[in-house]
Amino acid sequence: MNRRCDVLVIGAGMAGLTCALEIPDHLSVCLLSKTPMPAGSTYLAQGGLAAVTSPDDSIELHLEDTIAAGGGLVDEKAARSIISRGPELVAHLAELGVILEGAGSGIAGIEGGHSRRRVLHLDDRTGRFISETLSGLCRLRGNIEIAERAFAVNLITDRDGQQVSGDEIRGHCLGAYVLIGDEVHTFLARETVLATGGCGKVYRYTSNQDASTGDGIAMAYRAGLPIRNMEFFQFHPTCLFHPDKRNFLVTEALRGEGARRLNLDAKRFMSEYDQERMELAPRDVVARAIDSEMKKLGHDHVLLDATHLGREFLEEHFPEVTLGTTSVGIIPWEEPIPVVPAAHYCVGGVIASPDGTTGIRGLRVIGEAASTGLHGANRLGSNSLLEAGVMGIMAAETIPETLADSCAANVRDWSYGRARPLSESILVDHAWASLRSVMWDYVGIVRTDRRLHRSLRFIEVISEEVEEDYWSHMPCTDLLELRNICTVGDVIVRSAQKRRESRGLHYNLDCPEISETGRNTVIRLEK
Ligand SMILES: Cc1cc2nc3c(=O)[nH]c(=O)nc-3n(C[C@H](O)[C@H](O)[C@H](O)COP(=O)(O)OP(=O)(O)OC[C@H]3O[C@@H](n4cnc5c(N)ncnc54)[C@H](O)[C@@H]3O)c2cc1C
Repeated sequence: MNRRCDVLVIGAGMAGLTCALEIPDHLSVCLLSKTPMPAGSTYLAQGGLAAVTSPDDSIELHLEDTIAAGGGLVDEKAARSIISRGPELVAHLAELGVILEGAGSGIAGIEGGHSRRRVLHLDDRTGRFISETLSGLCRLRGNIEIAERAFAVNLITDRDGQQVSGDEIRGHCLGAYVLIGDEVHTFLARETVLATGGCGKVYRYTSNQDASTGDGIAMAYRAGLPIRNMEFFQFHPTCLFHPDKRNFLVTEALRGEGARRLNLDAKRFMSEYDQERMELAPRDVVARAIDSEMKKLGHDHVLLDATHLGREFLEEHFPEVTLGTTSVGIIPWEEPIPVVPAAHYCVGGVIASPDGTTGIRGLRVIGEAASTGLHGANRLGSNSLLEAGVMGIMAAETIPETLADSCAANVRDWSYGRARPLSESILVDHAWASLRSVMWDYVGIVRTDRRLHRSLRFIEVISEEVEEDYWSHMPCTDLLELRNICTVGDVIVRSAQKRRESRGLHYNLDCPEISETGRNTVIRLEK
């Protein structure tokens, strides 16, 4: 079945929602989300959105902080264009009903790496508030048609991503094949926007939602687009270690209140890794210390001891943590909280300009799926909601200029061939678990050449089997997501192998030094 629209927006997080809302009313928009809305990592964002709004702050200071965090790889031009539109984004969100604390009234937050208070928030429910408000507005717009539980499988291009030179690709994006129920629909559009978010699910432990399987990155890669700096993955040091609550973050503010990290032998271990700063060392140092301690002792988690704070203090100042832990029977004033670092943010992505343009005409990539160069080798906290929102607006502003004259006329529908329904879901489940374990054990926070080499061999074996299943079975979400995390895992490993140094979020024991000149890693499909 064919559907046509002017602009196809795939993904309904901060990036997709802002883009859809800003597209002029005379253009028809199809907004897809594979999960019910409100959706995505956006819904989970707690800290806030970084933007300059106070007189003692400036675009230059925000830029300086971003560059300092970025480990020498921030693209200054791209960063400036995104950061300088932050105040406008905040004002625009306020017009839409998203009034953040710290912009005008209330006090902005401050996070590690920011030299000024510029993290605008709504308690610790910033993302939820943004998602709910913007999703609600999209539902009211006459020119926006929403399809939830609609899974984009592949992009449709008129030539299959042949490289001309540099980042330019021959071909034009015509839309996407989309799985709804059991049927694959052909969505044709004059412009397609990928806003599918990150890929934390490639790792065994992640703070991301189940939907973060890097679908957009994998689709763009298959279409021939270059993928940049995927070795830089930010890990949050303390995610709850519990089978029933796997992506629950235990806020880092607890360590500011004196919570201590213990290994399972009840030994405080930070002194071995950063004697001076101990628990207050930067996030990456803490994550590496925990990872090292777990690998050394063969344990699958460590402990965060906040018992000294007492019930009253914890309930008053850390209601989310208290609620989350007690709901699974862990009483934080009586016992240490079991925690594990978790994959949190994908710094790399599809190479794109701040307005989302890519090397394929008619295709934009925005938000966490994109790599604009804003984050360099390490993300400054709260810059990602900023990036997603600004990119959404910039894409919508410029789409009318690049829109194709009409939708493609003749595109072949999805061919099911002799595909049969997947009967043995254990094969898919096992491959999911194996891939994520390999990534966690060998391509996690601390890497070595040997582990990277070995992980690639595992991924090749799993991917081969998954490809066989993909071509011989009816499309289903689990299989499609598995195929995408295999692709993304492979790209992460090959990017990590290319980087012969330790920089930003990438740490390899076999090349622990940082080289004098910083280079980006770029991986593209060899055809
Ligand atoms: C727990 C947590 C806390 C965070 N806190 C902060 C914070 O305080 N500040 C900050 O700046 N950043 C924070 N981040 C990061 C930030 O939330 C994300 O980078 C940002 O929200 C990404 O927005 P996005 O629109 O690109 O993607 P998302 O919000 O992840 O949205 C992706 C959308 O794409 C859809 N989708 C995916 N694949 C497909 C497909 N194949 N077909 C159809 N639809 C698809 C999903 O269903 C979803 O609708 C946090 C992240 C997490 C996980």
